[in-house]
Amino acid sequence: MFTHPFSAGPSARLSDSFISGKSLAPFTSWRIGGPAEWYVAPGSESEIQQILKLTQTQGIPLTILGGGSNVLISDQGLPGLVMHITHRFADFAFLPDGRVRAQAGVRLGTLIKKAISMELSGIEQLWGIPGTVGGAVTMNAGACQTEFFDVVESITSLTPSGQKVVRRRDQIQHGYRWSDYKFNAEIVLEATIRLQPAAAEAIQERFDAADARRKPQHDIRQPNCGSVFRNPPGDYAGRLIEQLGAKGRVQGKVQVSPSHANFIVNLGKASAQDACQLIRNLQHEVWHKNQILLEPEAIFLGEF
Ligand SMILES: Cc1cc2nc3c(=O)[nH]c(=O)nc-3n(C[C@H](O)[C@H](O)[C@H](O)COP(=O)(O)OP(=O)(O)OC[C@H]3O[C@@H](n4cnc5c(N)ncnc54)[C@H](O)[C@@H]3O)c2cc1C
Repeated sequence: MFTHPFSAGPSARLSDSFISGKSLAPFTSWRIGGPAEWYVAPGSESEIQQILKLTQTQGIPLTILGGGSNVLISDQGLPGLVMHITHRFADFAFLPDGRVRAQAGVRLGTLIKKAISMELSGIEQLWGIPGTVGGAVTMNAGACQTEFFDVVESITSLTPSGQKVVRRRDQIQHGYRWSDYKFNAEIVLEATIRLQPAAAEAIQERFDAADARRKPQHDIRQPNCGSVFRNPPGDYAGRLIEQLGAKGRVQGKVQVSPSHANFIVNLGKASAQDACQLIRNLQHEVWHKNQILLEPEAIFLGEF
């Protein structure tokens, strides 16, 4: 166990907001996972900078959590510090020229609703994707042939050494469900996106279409993390799993959703081990049958 990470730190006020042993499961859409050794939800850029500096100087492992809608957290929990970038760091501003600046903790859904009310188009097709702007940047969240980076103008981040960097979209590599931020250990602070003015009816139509496509997912009532596997090139993970006859399969307290084969649902008090085992079994069986390696879309955090 670490001593209090801020015991030798500069800010007593911030120090008070560190919590030890905080359960992380409630912060994930899967409702799975053990506690954080230390947990903090910063409320400003300067707090994020201070926390980063302390973890760096004291050698404390740091994990960033956003909306928790794409992670599987180990039953053992996470060592070191979990920095939860969410509603306390969630300001945004719509600028006159269609640009929007949003801090990493802003909910994607909040941004979409606001854009629609301002008759600005570009992200309405992403309606229904849970999580934060930070998560959408890291994962390049996407749906209906649209992805978050389609509208990104620039991203502001902090490097592990604490340097603040602004990169234009053409300086950031990104692809299907990934961007550089998934791999570079930087903390996403802010995204500037550019939206286009459009007729309210046209925007509403695309929003309604996105909402309708989500309908089968809305019917899944149990906690889940969306699609568990990335679609392999030219195929669908759900189709390959369905072909195994695995829909509805139960492993411990998790189940392959009976209505959507690429979703694994928590039947109540599921462990990360249950989910991990089911994921491995499905990978193994799909490989055996089709020689296709299904890659998890969800990020595994902690020890498995
Ligand atoms: C019901 C459901 C439906 C979904 N549908 C879709 C879909 O259609 N399309 C799609 O793309 N995804 C979908 N997802 C997955 C998920 O919503 C997206 O990947 C989302 O963008 C993740 O955002 P988050 O804030 O929840 O990230 P988290 O799950 O909290 O984190 C994901 C990763 O991003 C990192 N991260 C988060 N914030 C930051 C930050 N500020 N700085 C640095 N790293 C950060 C984390 O460390 C982690 O590695 C779905 C999930 C669910 C539960």
